[in-house]
Amino acid sequence: MTCPKCGNQLADGSTFCTNCGTQLGAASPFAQQQVNQQANAPYQNQYQNQNGYAGYAPAYDPYDHTADYDVKDISENKVIAMLPYLLGIVGIIIAMLGANESPYVKFHVRQALKFTVIDALLTIVGIVLIWTIIVPIACAVMSIVFLVIKIICFVQICGGKAKEPVIIRSLPFFK
Ligand SMILES: [Zn+2]
Repeated sequence: MTCPKCGNQLADGSTFCTNCGTQLGAASPFAQQQVNQQANAPYQNQYQNQNGYAGYAPAYDPYDHTADYDVKDISENKVIAMLPYLLGIVGIIIAMLGANESPYVKFHVRQALKFTVIDALLTIVGIVLIWTIIVPIACAVMSIVFLVIKIICFVQICGGKAKEPVIIRSLPFFK
């Protein structure tokens, strides 16, 4: 028998073509559909990439803005970008004065500002509602969670990344 698609010579009773992979004989419509999908997948990928979408790429992260920043900017201003996370409001001021023309630093200043605002809110709520006991404990736990996220951000800057931190990214201010 020969493959109806590519004409390859095959042993009688073959269920698929060894050359092009076409399902042969009593293939179920579902199996046929799968083969078609596999055959089309590379074209779909190509099409989506041409249109500027990452499509199927598993590592695509819409919150990773690293590609938006200049490599030179990142390498020159990495250390300054760390200060807002390390020193809070003081670090934010230093970064804004020291590298105001750097978009990479500005991105991290915005992220660090969100952390600072959250820390301040948690502290205020914790103090005002200290008599409830449970609220200040909850605030303390949340502060620890945000500290961990901040450490993750810090590590990402060491790698020259510009990722919006989890939880922080869903805040509506300082976009
Ligand atoms: Zn074939």
